[in-house]
Amino acid sequence: MSHTRKRLVMGNWKMHGSLAANAALLAGLAAGAARAGDTQLAVCVPFPYLAQAQAALAGTPVSWGAQDVSVHAQGAYTGEVAAAMLADFGCAWALCGHSERRAMHGESSALVAAKAASALAAGLTPVVCVGETLADRDAGQVECVIGDQLDPVLALGAEALARMVIAYEPVWAIGTGRTATPEQAQAVHAFIRAALTRHGAGQTRILYGGSVKAANAASLFAQPDIDGALVGGASLVADEFLDSAAAA
Ligand code: PGA
Repeated sequence: MSHTRKRLVMGNWKMHGSLAANAALLAGLAAGAARAGDTQLAVCVPFPYLAQAQAALAGTPVSWGAQDVSVHAQGAYTGEVAAAMLADFGCAWALCGHSERRAMHGESSALVAAKAASALAAGLTPVVCVGETLADRDAGQVECVIGDQLDPVLALGAEALARMVIAYEPVWAIGTGRTATPEQAQAVHAFIRAALTRHGAGQTRILYGGSVKAANAASLFAQPDIDGALVGGASLVADEFLDSAAAA
């Protein structure tokens, strides 16, 4: 089956790295990027390392982004980073509403959608993360929770939706080594696809995230509505990340 949406495999380094460790990792990505074939590659790095990613990846097929973005354009918002500042560093991407930010920083779905809108306004591609907890899943609430998280994003409209990426990351699969089965992931991706289609954006890419690594990537990518992956732990090792992307 041919896949019409371009595959995207994106690393999320989270709060890991140092100048020295990043230099080796970025050099490995630059050197091995061709292994990913037609699959688009990207890494979302901590803010202080954006300049390093920009310098190391310029001229390579690997793009870079941030793990969060302010909802505000500028002003007295100590500690915040504006989308236009990210654009200054050549960022292509901004994660919005990663579950760690929703859980630890109280980010609401309305705020996450507003962050996506501010990223779009600066010319960045937001990667809006959604996902249920294990308690939600056990209670049979997966579609209800994902639907609530998506609603304010869908309200941004077809034109905005066509310019973003959605990442489905079940919270119980993040950093736990416990991946959703390809069928579990596909069921939620199909639900998200249907919602996007109802809003005129059926071709928006939907990534899966949660303990993706080289050994399980191919079976996930074989699902019709999985367009790539958001990779945490496995993105910290160049070979593991590139092998995951090569499976796409
Ligand atoms: P993981 O993280 O691959 O380490 O599970 C994924 C994510 O949180 O984006």
